[in-house]
Amino acid sequence: MLFNNRSTDISTLERVIDYTPLTVAPAATVMAAITLMDGSEDLNAPTNPTRDRQNYSYVLVVDPNRPIGILTRRDVVKLVTAGTDLTTTKIAEVMTAPVMTMNITAITDAITALSVMQQHRIRHLPIVDECGLLVGMVTAEDLLQGYERLEPLASILPEQESGSSEIDRQSEASLFQSQQDLSDFVENAIGCLHWVAADGKIIWANQAELDLLGYTSAEYIGHYITEFHVNRTTIEDLLDRLLHDRAVREYEADLRCKDGSIRHVLIDANSSWHNGEFVRTRCFTRDITKRKQAEEDLKEFNAALSHAMEGIARLDLHGCYVWVNQAYAAAIGYTPAAMVGMDWQRTVHPEDLHTIELAYKQMLDLGKVEVAARGVRQDGSIFDKQLVMVMAVDSRQPSIGHYCFMKDVTDTKQAEADLIHSEHKFRAIFDSMSQFIGLLTPDGTFIEGNQAVFDAVAVDRAAIIGKPFWETPWWTHSPELQERVKAAVATAAAGELVRFESEHIWADGTPAVVDFSLKPMFDATGKVTMLIPEGRDITDRKRKEDILRNIALGVSAKTGAAFFQALVEYLTKALQVEYALISELLLPSQDRVSTVAAYGNGATLDRFEYALLDTPCQYTIDRQFYVCAEQLQQQFPNFALLSEISAQSYMGVLLRNSAGQPFGLICVLSCQPFSETQLMTEILNIFAARAAAEIERQQSEIELQRQKQDLARSNDELQQFAYVASHDLQEPLRMITSYLELLERRYKGQLDAQADMFIAYAVDGASRMQILINDLLNYSRVGRQDRNFEAVDCDPICAQVLTNLQVAISTNKAIVSADPLPRVYGNSSQLTQLFQNLIGNAIKFRSQEPPQIEINVRSIEGWWLFSVRDNGIGIENEYLDRIFVIFQRLHGKTEYPGTGIGLAVCKKIVERHGGNLWVESQPDRGSTFYFTLPPLLSTLC
Ligand code: ADP
Repeated sequence: MLFNNRSTDISTLERVIDYTPLTVAPAATVMAAITLMDGSEDLNAPTNPTRDRQNYSYVLVVDPNRPIGILTRRDVVKLVTAGTDLTTTKIAEVMTAPVMTMNITAITDAITALSVMQQHRIRHLPIVDECGLLVGMVTAEDLLQGYERLEPLASILPEQESGSSEIDRQSEASLFQSQQDLSDFVENAIGCLHWVAADGKIIWANQAELDLLGYTSAEYIGHYITEFHVNRTTIEDLLDRLLHDRAVREYEADLRCKDGSIRHVLIDANSSWHNGEFVRTRCFTRDITKRKQAEEDLKEFNAALSHAMEGIARLDLHGCYVWVNQAYAAAIGYTPAAMVGMDWQRTVHPEDLHTIELAYKQMLDLGKVEVAARGVRQDGSIFDKQLVMVMAVDSRQPSIGHYCFMKDVTDTKQAEADLIHSEHKFRAIFDSMSQFIGLLTPDGTFIEGNQAVFDAVAVDRAAIIGKPFWETPWWTHSPELQERVKAAVATAAAGELVRFESEHIWADGTPAVVDFSLKPMFDATGKVTMLIPEGRDITDRKRKEDILRNIALGVSAKTGAAFFQALVEYLTKALQVEYALISELLLPSQDRVSTVAAYGNGATLDRFEYALLDTPCQYTIDRQFYVCAEQLQQQFPNFALLSEISAQSYMGVLLRNSAGQPFGLICVLSCQPFSETQLMTEILNIFAARAAAEIERQQSEIELQRQKQDLARSNDELQQFAYVASHDLQEPLRMITSYLELLERRYKGQLDAQADMFIAYAVDGASRMQILINDLLNYSRVGRQDRNFEAVDCDPICAQVLTNLQVAISTNKAIVSADPLPRVYGNSSQLTQLFQNLIGNAIKFRSQEPPQIEINVRSIEGWWLFSVRDNGIGIENEYLDRIFVIFQRLHGKTEYPGTGIGLAVCKKIVERHGGNLWVESQPDRGSTFYFTLPPLLSTLC
C-alpha cells in the first residue's frame, strides 16, 4: 500500500488503524448493532491479530463497502434516553450521515489524523482509499494509546463527534494547508519533542522540551545531542537501535539540565530515511524523574515494609498470601517465601475462622477492620494476634485483595490478664478496708471509692461517682460540713494536707465521728493530679476517750463531802447510763440501805432509804457483783422503783470498808439494755475501787483525828502533871534541903564519920533533885507559856547571856565571838534560855584547849540560820539525835554535871518558834549547833 511506502510516521499510524472496523448494513437494527459493539458477534468479520478488543465504541454503516454513516455508543445512549425501540429501529434511520472520512493518501502521520479529528470535533475517522472504499478505522482512543506522547491532545479532542461531513479531496488539500496550525500545536504541545539530524545535531525542539531542560532554543538547537546526554553510551545505543529498528519505544536516558540537575526521561524515537539514507530522528521525551523517584521511594518503602517490626502481609482475592514481610512470617514460624501462596486458614485457629470471615466481610464494606483472633504457628502452637485488615485497591480495580497487619499480642494479653488479676486483688483489698478511701479530681469530682464509702451511706457507686464530693450523701446532712469540704478541696488542690473531724449519721441511723483527711497527690512536676479523701470511723475511740475522761474525772474528784456525789455523776457519763448510786448498809439489821450519793437523769438526787428485799441491790450484797443486762423489771417485779424510773438494766458492785466488812454498794441503772457488759463491768469496778479507797481514807482520817485529839489531851495532862509535880515538889524539897543543911551544920563532926557521910549524900541528893526539878519546871514552862511573841533583838540577848555566864567564861578562859545578830520574832526569855543553854554547853563540854566559841548567823531562803560553834570534845555520830531527847546524856554526872534537859528545852523553844534545831559534830573536833528562826517581816506578814 501507498501508505506503507510513505516516509512519514507510518509505523505508528499503522499500529493504530483498525483494518477490520466494525461494520453493519444500513438495514440492520440498532439492537443488532449494539450486540456487535458489545461483543464480536460478527462472526464473518476477520479477526485483527494486532487487536485484542472485545468492545467497540462505534459501528460503521457501509453500503456495500463504502462508509455511509456511523453510530457511536453515545448515540445509543441518546436513543435509549429518548425511548427509541432499538429492536425495530433500523440503523439507517438513526445513524450519523454522511460520515466524515479521510483518504489514506492524505495521511502523513498520526498527528495529522489527530489534528483532523480535533478540527472537526470527531473521535472516529474512517480511512478510505482513492475510490472511497473503506480501508480501516482510526479512533482518537487508539491514536492516543499509540501516541502517549501526544496525550495532551486528548484534552482538546471533541467529547463527541460533530455532525459528519464528507471530506473530499479538496478538503484534504485544505487540511494540508493547515500545516501551520499543526506546527503551532506541536510547538505549544505539553509533550517534549526534538528533532536530531543524522550528524547528531539538534535541528528543532519545541518549547516544552526547552522548558524541561531549562535551555533557550539557542542553547539547545544546533548543539549536539550528546552534550545533553549524561551517558554517552546511551545515545550510541539509541542510535544503533534506530539504525537497526528505525523506531525505539520508551528508551530510558538521563538528560542534563542547564542548572546541572539530571532529568530522567523516556524517549520514543523514530527515524526518517530518504533514498535509504538516514535523515533525522524525531524524539518524544517524557520526564519520568518523579516517577523514577517514586519508584525508588516505593522500593525503599517495600524494603522498609519487609523489615518492619509489625507483621505485614498482602493476600489476594482468594485469601492466599501474595507477599509477607519478615516479621509476619517469623511470628508464624515460616520464612516469607514459604508463606507465599499459602491459604490464610492455615494461620488461624480453627475456632476463630468464622471470626476472621466475618471481619473480612466487614472489611469489604468498610475498607478496613480490626479483629482479635488466635493464630496457629507452624509448630502448631497457639498465639493471640491482633489484626488490621485493609482492602487493597489500585486505580484500575476496586479490590485486588487485602493487606493484613498483624501483632502478636500474647504477651500483651498476658500482661492485661495479669493487670486485671492484680487490679482485682487490689480492688479486693481496697474494698475490704474498714476505713473510707476515695479518689477525687483536683476540682473535687468523686471518681472512685472503696466499698466502705458506699456502704456507710447505703448508696450505689453510680449515685456518687461523677459528683462534686461535697454534694454526695456523705455531707448533705450538714450544709456547714459541705462548705468545709468544699474549702478543704480548694486547700488540698493547692497542695496542702487537710484534716478535720466530722460527725455523721450512717444509713442505719448510727451516729458516727470520722477522722477525715484530704491528701493531695503530685506528679513529677509537682502538679496536683488527684486528691485522696480518707476517713476513719473514730466513734468507738471517741466514746472510749469520753469514758476514760469521765473515769479520770470521776476517780480524781476531790476528796471530802462532794467526792461521792462527783463519783456517781461521772459514773453515769462514763457508762452512759441514766442512774448511778452509792448506798451504805444501815445497821444493825443491814436489811436496808441509805444512799450516800445518787445521780439520775442529769441531776443530783436527794438521799433516800430503801429495803433490800427483792431488789437487785440485795443480789449485789449477797454475790459481791450482780448484773442484769435487760428485762430488769421482769426480774424484780416487786421493786416498784424500777418501773417508776423505767429501768431496764442494772449493774452493782459490793463495797467493803478497810476491815473487809461490807459497807454498801455502788450501782448503775439504765433505761436501755446493756450492750457492752464486759467493758461496763471493768469501768464500774474502777469506780468501786475508788469509792472503797475513799471510804477507807475517810475512815482513816477520822481515826487519825481521834488519835490526834487523844495525844493532845494526854500531852496536856502530862504537861500539867510535870508542872504540878515540879512546882509542888519544890516546897517539900526546899524543906528537906534546909533541914539537911541545918543537920549538917549542927551535927557535923558530932556524929560518927559514917553519919557525916550519909548526911553529905542526903544534902547532895537533895540539891541535885532541886536542880532537876528546876530544869523540869523550865521544860514544862516552855510548853505551857502562851505564844507571847514580839520583835526581839538578839544582840542584847546574847550580851545578857554572856554576862550570866561570866564566871564560867573567865574560869575556863573561854573566848566567845558573835556576829551582829538580827531581830527576830519571838519570846525574849525563851531565846535567852536557848542561847544560854547552847553557849553554856559549849563551855562545859570543853576539851583541853580553852573554849573558843563563835556565834554566826545568815539568812537562808528568808529564814535566819544561827550557829553556835565550839572547839570542845565533840559528839559521836550515832548520838547526834539522841542528845535532844529529855534526860539523855552521854556522860556521867561526875564527868560533866547536868540533868540532860537543856537541849530538850532548846529543841522545844526552837520548834515553838517554827524553826529546827540540829547539830553537826565529830569527836575531838568540836560541835556546831544550828537553829533556824523566822524573820521578823515574814512572821508579821
Ligand atoms: P546536860 O548538859 O545537862 O547533860 P544537855 O541536854 O544540855 O544536858 O546535853 C545533853 C548531852 O549532850 C550532854 O550530856 C552532852 O553529852 C551532850 N552535849 C551537849 N552540848 C555539847 C557540846 N557543846 N559538846 C559536846 N557535847 C555536848
